[in-house]
Amino acid sequence: MVKVRGAEGIEEAAAILARGGLVAFPTETVYGLGADAGSAAAVDRIFEAKGRPKGHPLIVHIGAADELRRYTARVPADAELLADAFWPGPLTIVVERGDGVAPETVGGLDTVGIRVPDHPLALALLRRFGGPIAAPSANRFGSVSPTTAKHVVDDLGPALDLVLDGGPCAVGVESTIIDLTGSSPVLLRPGGISAVELEAVLGAPVLDDRAGPSRAPGMLTSHYAPRTAVDLVPGATAGSGGPDAAMADRALVAATVDGAARVGLIAPFDHPHCPSWRLPADATGYAAELYATLREADRHDLDRLLIAPPNEGRLLDAVLDRLMKAAAPRP
Ligand code: AMP
Ligand code: MG
Repeated sequence: MVKVRGAEGIEEAAAILARGGLVAFPTETVYGLGADAGSAAAVDRIFEAKGRPKGHPLIVHIGAADELRRYTARVPADAELLADAFWPGPLTIVVERGDGVAPETVGGLDTVGIRVPDHPLALALLRRFGGPIAAPSANRFGSVSPTTAKHVVDDLGPALDLVLDGGPCAVGVESTIIDLTGSSPVLLRPGGISAVELEAVLGAPVLDDRAGPSRAPGMLTSHYAPRTAVDLVPGATAGSGGPDAAMADRALVAATVDGAARVGLIAPFDHPHCPSWRLPADATGYAAELYATLREADRHDLDRLLIAPPNEGRLLDAVLDRLMKAAAPRP
């Protein structure tokens, strides 16, 4: 069995990282699978453990905003602004890669995504280790990100040297990623900080990468998916006010026409007629519970999972993005 420790495990965790090992640790977004970002051999173990293709860049975690200049040759003015406003926090900033980050960590790119996580255990680990930690979500490639230490153990246990347990993650979806290497800022992934919040700090519009071919290698159509097939309840688009119980009813009837299919529902409203999980109507509360609920639904041996998104809130974009990817055709 893999070792699971709380704050008393920081010292040992840092020593494991220093000798090239793998430590899963909590952040405010999801649990990360950490290795020394300066070591090609260490990050190789991340790709191996996750079954993740080598070309997909890993996010690099640092302990404080003023360390940013160590890992990039050029700190853009916008990066200073955003780091001041949102670090520690769920925002990853893509800048030109400097020394100190192994090329293997970022799939050979000349850029690197960096953030300061907002979790006491993550920050204590970074401080103790004293270097950058590469950490994607601590789950097998393509599946649902872990938001508790138990999720991590279930997914990757034997591949890890240590798991730090900091309780459930507060945000529950991954960081927002913004690319500052071009002439204007581009949103690569919606996440724990909304585009509106970014624009308020930058005083300028942020372009959305999802309009064209992606600049973020590894940003796949199908991702964050439970084992069970997922359909979104019709009406599930931003600004529509969201689907309601009547729409869910019609969708459930359609999904069970032959009476044989076992269908479950995740929605911000109650439903008495099938296995169902009620999440908050506000996207921020919904995000915090979403991944644990997808994992729970997977234990019910359903043929199909219907999901109705939240109606409003800061993290609506991030939640809709994850739901769309969970519902996308599987490779
Ligand atoms: P995660 O699985 O949460 O660690 O997210 C990693 C994803 O962030 C990658 O698959 C990319 O889509 C994106 N990403 C990380 N670093 C970069 C980078 N340097 N340039 C573009 N996208 C990046
Ligand atoms: Mg991931």
